[in-house]
Amino acid sequence: MKYYSTNNQNLNYSFREAIMRGLASDGGLIMPQYIPALKKSFINNLNNLTFQEIAFEISKLFITDKIPSNSLQTIIEKAINFKAPLYKLNSNTGILELFYGPTLAFKDFGARFMAQFMNYYVDKMNNKIDILVATSGDTGSAVASAFYGIDGINVYILYPSGMVSQVQEKQLTTFGNNITALEIKGSFDDCQNLVKKAFVDKEINEKYNLTSANSINIARLIPQSFYYFEAYKQITDKYDNVIFSVPSGNLGNLTAGLFAKKMGLPITKFIAANNFNNVFSNYIKTKIFKSKPTIKTISNAMDVGNPSNFIRIFKLYNEKHGLIVKDINSSYHSDEDTLKEIKYLYKKYSYLIDPHGAVASLALKKYIKEENPENYYGVILETAHPFKFNDILKNILNINVEIPDSIKHSLEQKKVSIKLSNTYSLFKEFLLSRG
Ligand SMILES: *Cc1c(COP(=O)(O)O)cnc(C)c1O
Repeated sequence: MKYYSTNNQNLNYSFREAIMRGLASDGGLIMPQYIPALKKSFINNLNNLTFQEIAFEISKLFITDKIPSNSLQTIIEKAINFKAPLYKLNSNTGILELFYGPTLAFKDFGARFMAQFMNYYVDKMNNKIDILVATSGDTGSAVASAFYGIDGINVYILYPSGMVSQVQEKQLTTFGNNITALEIKGSFDDCQNLVKKAFVDKEINEKYNLTSANSINIARLIPQSFYYFEAYKQITDKYDNVIFSVPSGNLGNLTAGLFAKKMGLPITKFIAANNFNNVFSNYIKTKIFKSKPTIKTISNAMDVGNPSNFIRIFKLYNEKHGLIVKDINSSYHSDEDTLKEIKYLYKKYSYLIDPHGAVASLALKKYIKEENPENYYGVILETAHPFKFNDILKNILNINVEIPDSIKHSLEQKKVSIKLSNTYSLFKEFLLSRG
């Protein structure tokens, strides 16, 4: 399996090159040259496979570099070491809970898979690498947690001081060891700019072997396809229509679902659920992809005005809007309706959903109402643990979400960060003094 740049079909990489680069050298996103097909017997036999066995079989098809089978198995066992249960809400709706990873969001799947592969390749190279990440919260904690304790990889996380939630800050700043939290006096964009400049800085590159752990890395996408199979396995009866509603921002989660369908998983329809950052929803409706400035909402991980994975979906469907709308429906929803939906699900089912999952629930309902599919089963992807949004839930439901055991520990630790201004020369000085 080779990988290509979305800017140039003829610019090719191996999986190892793809993961280490992140982006193609011409700035394009990296895509598999084809989506491998799974055997029908594999799909029919999902019931008899564990989540890790499913992950292993899919990985083998995407990663054909010379990685011994037992090494691949170890990588998967270390990365995908938590469950993805389908909570049966009612007879034809399930909620796929993707928040059992260490940082309570589905981004753990991608970050851990990428970290374990980098670990494997660094061992082989006998070299050290350094990772720079700018974060507005969730990505940084998933990356920090995934790389924590990995020999030969140092991670520097830049986050905007005072602009991440308390829980997020604890998750960024309490690891220590090979993880360094840099608290930047400035905005997320400032953090992003510092990282971008460092990547093209000659002096820094002489001292450091820099890599990004960017969300557009193909190694973060592949493992996200695993849980669509795991969800399908848990739907016990036969349905004519299986529909997945995906809370969407940068469209990585949706792209991974489309991979699963192309591999042969019989999903009838995807729904891209947007908040008022509705660039993709507008594209589905108007055939025109037009980025917009972001709007702040309560489902903040979906506040994306220029979703970078759009180009991957576009390529997957040969750039044809007509083919895209056959497989994907999309709608967008207000904060007000999102809060109502959280209340409704709690009152009716005693189910606590986070704002991102609530948007997906709204989008599924709208689709069912308008299209009236026969004999359907709808799956809502719940991408974050409701505890992460305790403030919002406390406000509208008058309850306190219980702290999940997995993060109690980090909440008790002392925050350790290095405070820096947003001036590039000072950031550079800091890096050079450390290298
Ligand atoms: C990142 C994120 C999303 C959006 O996922 P994309 O793959 O960027 O579309 C949705 N929900 C949560 C909780 C997230 O952290």
